[in-house]
Amino acid sequence: MQNEHHTSYKTTCSYCGVGCGMTVKKDRKDNLVLEGDKEHPVNRGMLCSKGMNLQYAMGDLSDRLLYPEMRRSKSHPLERVSWDVAMQRAAAVFASLIKTYGPDSVGFYVSGQCLTEEYYVANKLVKGFLGTNNIDTNSRLCMSSAVAAYTNMLGEDAVPVSYEDIELADCFLIAGANPAWCHPILFRRIEAHKQNNPDVKLIIVDPRKTQTVANADLHLQLLPGTDIYLYNAIARVLIENGDVDYTFIQQHTEAFEDYRASVFQYTVAEAAKHCEVAESDIRLAASYIAASKGFLTLWAMGLNQSVIGVKKNFSLISLNLITGHIGKPGSGPFSLTGQPNAMGGREVGGLATMLAAHRSIANPKHREEVATFWGVNSISDKPGYTATQMIEALERGDLKAVWIICTNPMVSLPDLKRAEAAMKNARFVVVQDISRRSDTLQFADLILPAAGHFEKEGTMTNSERRISHLSKIVAPPGEARADAEILCRFAKAMGFAGFDYASPAEIFAEHTRLTKGTNIDISGLTYDRLKAEGTVQWPVPSPGHKGTSRLFTDHTFYTTSGKAKFFPLGAPENLSEPVTEDYPLILTTGRIRDQWHTMTKTGKVNRLRQHIDKPFLEIHPYDATARNIRNGDPVVIRNARGETRVCARITDEIKQGVVFLPMHWGRNMTNDLARANNVTSSLVDPISKEPDFKFSAVAVEAY
Ligand code: SF4
Repeated sequence: MQNEHHTSYKTTCSYCGVGCGMTVKKDRKDNLVLEGDKEHPVNRGMLCSKGMNLQYAMGDLSDRLLYPEMRRSKSHPLERVSWDVAMQRAAAVFASLIKTYGPDSVGFYVSGQCLTEEYYVANKLVKGFLGTNNIDTNSRLCMSSAVAAYTNMLGEDAVPVSYEDIELADCFLIAGANPAWCHPILFRRIEAHKQNNPDVKLIIVDPRKTQTVANADLHLQLLPGTDIYLYNAIARVLIENGDVDYTFIQQHTEAFEDYRASVFQYTVAEAAKHCEVAESDIRLAASYIAASKGFLTLWAMGLNQSVIGVKKNFSLISLNLITGHIGKPGSGPFSLTGQPNAMGGREVGGLATMLAAHRSIANPKHREEVATFWGVNSISDKPGYTATQMIEALERGDLKAVWIICTNPMVSLPDLKRAEAAMKNARFVVVQDISRRSDTLQFADLILPAAGHFEKEGTMTNSERRISHLSKIVAPPGEARADAEILCRFAKAMGFAGFDYASPAEIFAEHTRLTKGTNIDISGLTYDRLKAEGTVQWPVPSPGHKGTSRLFTDHTFYTTSGKAKFFPLGAPENLSEPVTEDYPLILTTGRIRDQWHTMTKTGKVNRLRQHIDKPFLEIHPYDATARNIRNGDPVVIRNARGETRVCARITDEIKQGVVFLPMHWGRNMTNDLARANNVTSSLVDPISKEPDFKFSAVAVEAY
């Protein structure tokens, strides 16, 4: 849209998975003014503090990488080079390593902030042409436990619900999430719905009394790691009281009896003791669920980032299955996606164990379908290294080159001292990013400047399967290029055919063709349609199809039998590292309201820094007094892996015995010692390989 003063564009916020629509106006001098898109079905004009300040984060070019830089050897400094030289060097190193050590000696680590087209090209390049499945995404750190649970229970990584279910639900169970701060616009919709309908019940499960708890009817302040006890105990009460949907269970699920037996292994009183919550509160939660006509479970990292993350997901989703609250208005399990395009990445097979359109590397037919589509002989049947497995492979020397795109693992990975030592072991590190603020740059042998948000065209998918088109609004600065363009250029330098795309629209069209006939079929979508009609929820299997707001409405699931599957949970023991006399406190990490990930964007915006401008340790008054710590005192959080130094914030809003650190701060905002991940555990869930960020044993003392 254009008038004589400005041009107006539609786009989507680059931060969380809520996926708020924006209208951006650009004047003749490329000044941008943005506001929430009033016609957008997600946010209806609203934006949170991060979204409404996005133009300042992107408009400040002071930290932008503007040209490729390369070091000739580890002992040489980085120096500016042309794109041709950069691409030739990358191709020469990768070709040589693959020839000498095999394709599994190289790997790519990408991001839930990549656009779908970038994700698609990266996966095609690595899995189809480099001949390895060593490409993983930082969504491994946040969503992979939910992915594994959906896949096992429902047959595929398919989020069944839609945001419109919020206004149709009358009971919400929000577990291990603080949407008031981390998914604010979605939570505003829940708040507004509750305000208009006071009988709507809000149950929050969290060891911290977060902002989300302010409007809760019930806060279950459980001990970290005891979630399975809690959801199984709620299930037991529902079963004992006859508040389950046996018709649904019999007709549309399997393995209920095994699940039921595991739930009855211990009493509600025993579970309450393990969780450190009142038995009466467990029964109250069950009564709210039993009385509801629409029951939504929502969760985020508190469940996923756990050594038993998949089982925690199983136990929570089971509450929807036993009550038949799935595939119905206002009902279903709803994992809250942290990043803006984690979902799009999962669609193109962005995880090291997946292929495009929810196909699996383990399935020979799926591998053959994708190989034929890409015109390559075969796809390796060996699962690729996951995020933390890449670190282990670097340590061992098996992985020799790693290419990191749009993510800052040297702040966000667990057990950072170990990760740093592993990175030093790499023979060749490529970092493709927009910002000099990335801590990961210190390890780069080759730096490639990427285009940022507003500077490239593509698509993203939000938490409710809604695909949106993002316009290119301004040109990237200097010699920065769109990520997909950089990857295609590298592919051509390697001599690979099939990367001659004239535009992102062509990449998207190829991606949609590969989904045809699958459960996430979007072959009915084109850029022209998205631009003309706005956002659409998958599946969209034909041009006339309107998109799909809710899945499984006929209660046929994507499993082989068509039935949803229960999993017996066994003894719900916590497999996290034990607290000990030396390390007696449980550390949990998370986000604050106005910062995003490792602060390379939000850390530049004054208004956002004003909310909380320094890292801190949240500690209960009892634990602080026992250590002679006063509010504001500098403290050291320590264990065998390392230490973190911040100031104490004493509050009874955190459970006694538990401490909390925000995950955002790294060297570029303060120093290495402020990083929460200096002390986090590198244990991972055995199925999802998602790290145990929510449970590390630490000691805390004043210094
Ligand atoms: Fe952006 Fe999420 Fe805020 Fe919406 S809620 S404006 S998507 S950060």
